[in-house]
Amino acid sequence: MTTNAKNLVCVESSHKRELHRAGWIVVDASTIIENAYLETEKGLITGVHKGRPKEKFIDHGPGVLMPPLVNTHLHLELSALKNQLHFDKGFESWVKALLETRDALGQEKLIEQAQKAVGELIKSGTLYVGDISTLGIIKPMIENSRLNGVCFHEFLGSNIPSLFTCKNDSVSSSVAGHAPHTSSPQLLKALKERSKSAGLPFSIHVAESDVESEFIHDKKGQWADFLIDRGIDWSSWNIGSKTPVSYLNDLGLLDPLTIAVHVLNVTKKDMEILARSKVKVCVCPRSNQNLHGKLPEIDRMIQKGIEPALGTDSLASCDSLNMFDEMAFVKNHYPRLDPEIIFSMGTINGAVALGLDRWTGTLSKGKRARFLYRSVNVTNKKDLFQRITSNE
Ligand SMILES: [Zn+2]
Repeated sequence: MTTNAKNLVCVESSHKRELHRAGWIVVDASTIIENAYLETEKGLITGVHKGRPKEKFIDHGPGVLMPPLVNTHLHLELSALKNQLHFDKGFESWVKALLETRDALGQEKLIEQAQKAVGELIKSGTLYVGDISTLGIIKPMIENSRLNGVCFHEFLGSNIPSLFTCKNDSVSSSVAGHAPHTSSPQLLKALKERSKSAGLPFSIHVAESDVESEFIHDKKGQWADFLIDRGIDWSSWNIGSKTPVSYLNDLGLLDPLTIAVHVLNVTKKDMEILARSKVKVCVCPRSNQNLHGKLPEIDRMIQKGIEPALGTDSLASCDSLNMFDEMAFVKNHYPRLDPEIIFSMGTINGAVALGLDRWTGTLSKGKRARFLYRSVNVTNKKDLFQRITSNE
C-alpha cells in the first residue's frame, strides 16, 4: 500500500484473503455501492459486498475505493522535454524543436526523467499505460515498476524493420505507426499486420494537425517539404483528396484492435467511419489545446457511440501525466459531458482500448485487486463523481 499526495492511496492486496472496506465503492460508472467492502484473494477481487464485514477487515475510511486510472497514450521517453519547448510557433516548428532537443539531451537524461515520471504516474493513481517509444528505452523501466500495460515501439518513414511483439499479462510489447503523414503505407500495413497477428493493439496518431490534413488531401504544403528535408520519399503514397481518417480506412487499418489517437480534425463522414469501424479512439485534450489551440469533439463521438479513452500525451506537450488533471480538464471544457462518462474515459475505456479489461477498468469480480482509495467526503453519488473528476 502506498500513500500518495492529495489524499490518494494505491492499494494492492496481498496473496492471502483480505477484506477492504470504505464509505463508497465505485465498481464502474453505473455501479456505486455505499458502505461496502471488497473481498480479495490471490491478487484478484473475489467479491464486492454491501455493509460492514463481520470478520477482520482493513478500513480505508469514509472515502471511495475506485479502479486505478489508465493513461492510454503517453510518451515517457519525452519526459525530459518538460517546459523545454514553445507551443506558439506552430506544430511543424514544435516537432523540429522536439527532435533536436531530444537528441541533444542524450539517452541518460531521457531515462532519468522518464524514471521520475513513472514514479509520478503511480503516485497520481495511474497503474496502467499505453506507452509510445521510438527509442525503445522505456519497456524495462515499466517492467521494473508497478505499472502494467502495453509498450508500443513506434516507427515512421519507409523502412520496414524487423518487428517484435509479445503478449504478456503484465506488460505487453506491440508496435505503433507514428502517423499517416510520416509513415509509408507499406510500413503502416506491416505494423498493423504484425500487431494484429499477435492479438495486440496497434496505435497511431491520426488527424492531429492542419499540416497533416493538408498533406494527405493536397499532396503538398509544409509537411511535404519537411519530409523531403528528412529524406523521406512519399511520391508513391496513395494520398490525395482524402482526410487522414478516410486514408487509414482505405488502407484497412481501422478496426477494433487499432487505437486512433487525437482525431482532432475530423469531418462528419470521418466520424461515421470511426463509429462504423469500431476503432478505439484515444483523445488527449490538454496536449491538443497546447499544440493546436483546439479540442476534439468528444460530445459528438459519444453521440455516435464511440467510447473514447483518455491519454495525456507527453510532458513535451502537457503539464503533467496525471490522469486526474486530464479528467478535470475534460470536465471544465466539456460541461455537457456527464462526470460518469469522463470517469469511464479514464478507466474502463482505456482498459478496453489497450486490451487490459480482463484485468482492470472496473472493480468487478475476477479483476486484479489493485485499486485506489480517495478520501473524499460526500453524501451522494452525484457529488462523488463530481469530486473524482474534479481532482479537488
Ligand atoms: Zn502522442
